[in-house]
Amino acid sequence: MLEYKRSIQMKAMMLTGIRQMEMKDIPEPVIVKPNDVRIKMSVVGICGSDIHYYTNGQIGTQKVKYPFTVGHEGAGVVVEVGHAVKRVKPGDVIAIEPAMPCRECDQCLAGRHHTCRKLRFLGCPGQAEGCLMEHIVMPEENCFPLGERLTPDHGSISEPLAIGVYAVKKSGSVKGQKIGIFGYGPIGMSVMLAAKAEEADSFYITDKIDSRLLIAVKEKASYTGNPLKEDVVEKILKMVNLGLDVVFECCGQQEAFDQAIEVLKPGGRLIVVGIPEFDNWSMNVETTRRKEISLQFIRRQVDCVGPALEMMKNGIISVDNMVTHRFPFERTKEAFDLVADYSDGVMKAMIDFEC
Ligand SMILES: [Zn+2]
Ligand SMILES: [Zn+2]
Repeated sequence: MLEYKRSIQMKAMMLTGIRQMEMKDIPEPVIVKPNDVRIKMSVVGICGSDIHYYTNGQIGTQKVKYPFTVGHEGAGVVVEVGHAVKRVKPGDVIAIEPAMPCRECDQCLAGRHHTCRKLRFLGCPGQAEGCLMEHIVMPEENCFPLGERLTPDHGSISEPLAIGVYAVKKSGSVKGQKIGIFGYGPIGMSVMLAAKAEEADSFYITDKIDSRLLIAVKEKASYTGNPLKEDVVEKILKMVNLGLDVVFECCGQQEAFDQAIEVLKPGGRLIVVGIPEFDNWSMNVETTRRKEISLQFIRRQVDCVGPALEMMKNGIISVDNMVTHRFPFERTKEAFDLVADYSDGVMKAMIDFEC
């Protein structure tokens, strides 16, 4: 039976080189462990990190060995379950948490399974193939049933949104505070939605792409500014002369990092979420010391997919303004090019297996 199943072929969208991608036929994955779940993919959101692999073939020391499938923001339908699975059943529509930790190492035992020493993460080179394929198999702990009120899009967005929820949690309390978000892509937006849910006072948002700032305006930012067109530090300090309480760096740019330190008040917190394409951050010694700036780096998220789904379900968070583009599975490359080039006002592009 197993052998028979292994011969069933399915389609996978694989990276084959820098800015190259091909649809390939590969064997459909099979249930191996009693807690495995086979999922038919419905949607996959394209993430900035997928684009790094597409355009550079690597993030830091993590290098793609071709051919390789990326994609980790997925939702789908359960089609088959191992005999020990209790959490989901065939037919359930689910969000997929992409991180598969070992649950045994010091980090896992300390509740830090996002920095697991043996982490396997969907679409991360050397760890696990991604979900830009028709079927995947995941452990049941990674499956979150969406229920009646949430769509597969919500399921997919729960991954980036969880990073926002986690970053806000790590920043300390944001209630009543003035928040800067420098870089307003899907992650910057997720941070804003999560901070709004925690009743932050006001938002000061910068991005080099005006169409993204328009979305921030829709989300009721107090200030939006394009650093290519105006002195964002001066503008923000004019509005908030004592400075901001927290800034989330969400674009991985040195200039945004520097601007954040300038606009923070003494005792302010800089939360670094963005993934830079360079190797070393730099910072001004005098300003960071005199202001006693706290610095927190963020590595993805831990245990925040459930809360992110819950907040969408309860209507505390609305992600209605996030998805700007949809592409059928066969046209994944077009979607990647669009996101890589920041064209056509793209915020989040979705690959939709059903359209
Ligand atoms: Zn992502
Ligand atoms: Zn571990």
